Amino acid sequence: MHAVVYHGPGRKSWEEVPKPSIQDDTDAVVKVDSVTICGTDLHILKGDVPAVTEGRILGHEAVGTVESVGSGVKNLSPGDRVLVSCITACGSCRFCREARYGQCLGGGGWILGHLVDGTQAEYVRVPFADTSTFAIPAGVTDEEVLMLADIGPTGYEVGVLNGHVRPGDVVAVVGAGPIGLSSIMGAKLFSPAHVVAIDLAESRLEAAKRVGADVVVNATHDDALEVVRGLTDGLGADVAIEAVGVPGTFEQCAALVRPGGTVANVGVHGKPATLHLEDLWIRDVTITTGLVDTYSTPTLLRLLASRQLDLGQLVTHRFGLGDFMQAYEVFANAADTQALKVVLSARS
Ligand code: NAD
Ligand code: ZN
Repeated sequence: MHAVVYHGPGRKSWEEVPKPSIQDDTDAVVKVDSVTICGTDLHILKGDVPAVTEGRILGHEAVGTVESVGSGVKNLSPGDRVLVSCITACGSCRFCREARYGQCLGGGGWILGHLVDGTQAEYVRVPFADTSTFAIPAGVTDEEVLMLADIGPTGYEVGVLNGHVRPGDVVAVVGAGPIGLSSIMGAKLFSPAHVVAIDLAESRLEAAKRVGADVVVNATHDDALEVVRGLTDGLGADVAIEAVGVPGTFEQCAALVRPGGTVANVGVHGKPATLHLEDLWIRDVTITTGLVDTYSTPTLLRLLASRQLDLGQLVTHRFGLGDFMQAYEVFANAADTQALKVVLSARS
């Protein structure tokens, strides 16, 4: 089969590799029907994630058809259409029983495409297949479901639920990339008074408006603090969601939030950010952060099926499964191409 293989910083290729097979009795082998590229894949390719070593097949988001299952797999059969989740987890250890799948102690807790081979391939071996795949309800498209492999649950769990968004809240979302946009859509499910999207790129702010942001702020020339204070009698946002991953935007979220509010950090930070405890403690500010666990995926699947959530609108570009080099080029140059999510499909 063919797969996208990482060959060290800046180097990858779509090349012939051995087709995966069942190694453990809890594995499934899934034929990849649709797959996408994540910002994290670009970080890996820059060499920012040293845990990913040469020879690794990239990718942690896919929709596919089960080809074979190990003898210990209870919930899946060949022919089933499934979402392959970004996190694989044993499902039975102390942390998995708390739905903290990302911290699995039972030999999982892996993000596919990091320490195990990933989904940017014609076939993928999914460890712990019972907890690492989700059955797809009728009436939803592969593209929509694909948005739940990572960005949907990330925005919803780490942004919206950790942030405790409630009806009537003013929610500031800093960063309107796929994760920030999915946080905006997730926040809208709770009937906030205003969602304010803050970014530096006009095209991303346009996308934020399309997915439901009530107010957009281009922080290159407008003052987000002034806008948020103007909407909140000078108090600040009830919830500030950080969806960029640089120190400045974390510190901005801490400044944007009202006394008693929550900063929900979603961004992956490569550098330390300053935590102004001398200010935050007396303002009763709660700070949350975390890795996506995908415990919300069944809820989000129901919301897709009932048309309460339209994550499919984030797909801007479509390719055939073999066109990874071109798709990476388009995705990595989002400023020019205005790409949000690119989908590669075996059927196109
Ligand atoms: P992205 O790079 O596509 O989007 C980031 C957005 O932030 C861009 O639109 C950019 O214009 C904007 N931005 C950059 N600097 C800014 C600034 N100073 N002020 C306002 N906006 C600014 O990234 P993404 O794919 O949407 O991911 C967002 C973050 O979420 C990344 O750090 C990613 O690694 C992280 N992430 C976290 C998890 C998790 O489990 N916690 C999972 C997936 C991704
Ligand atoms: Zn576990």
